[in-house]
Amino acid sequence: MEFEVAFFDLDDTLYDKQSGLWDAIRQRMSLYMHERLGMSWDVIPTLRRHYFETYGTTLRGLQLHHQVDADDYLNYVHDLPVHDFIQPDPELRQMIVTLPLRRFIFTNADRDHAQRVLEVLGVADCFQAIIDVRAIQFYCKPEPEAYRIALHLAQVDSPQRCIYLDDSLANLTAARAMGFFTILVGQEEPEPQVDLSIRYVKDLRSRMPQLWDNHRGSK
Ligand SMILES: [Mg+2]
Repeated sequence: MEFEVAFFDLDDTLYDKQSGLWDAIRQRMSLYMHERLGMSWDVIPTLRRHYFETYGTTLRGLQLHHQVDADDYLNYVHDLPVHDFIQPDPELRQMIVTLPLRRFIFTNADRDHAQRVLEVLGVADCFQAIIDVRAIQFYCKPEPEAYRIALHLAQVDSPQRCIYLDDSLANLTAARAMGFFTILVGQEEPEPQVDLSIRYVKDLRSRMPQLWDNHRGSK
């Protein structure tokens, strides 16, 4: 199968989990629920887990049950000095920029946050578009509708022509059921629910050299 498109998740996929950025964002989600919505600290972890497991994101649950304004929430939770957590990554850039597929960011976060992260990593110019939570109309991965919208926006006929990299097994499992070639980022050990596991996203080149070779051969 010749692949046409690569979808990259953003948080904990393009940069390493160890950076602590995503943990910091999660802490701000809890802080938002405490400060803005007046929830007690005791209920917040359970409620967040429930929303995350039921709807894919905390935001979706807060929108449905607490009439939260998405702009207010997204600005609040992403109000962090991103450059304190992550640095430019020339190896990542080299991998992405040479990958001979059309490349998209596909994230449940919002565009402003994605743009800041991509700029700090030094890869902001490497993607055709950022497909963010607004672009997917507040559906969220792993809701199938989120993937259908992403395919439509990327103008690709079939998920079978797409590779999709994410650190979330739930997101990848849903995508694989639709026919995407799924790549779990963050661990080396094979995972039966996905097609490939890689420790770092920049390992894609050594783990799937055929993506680069096929392209060269077809010219
Ligand atoms: Mg992620």
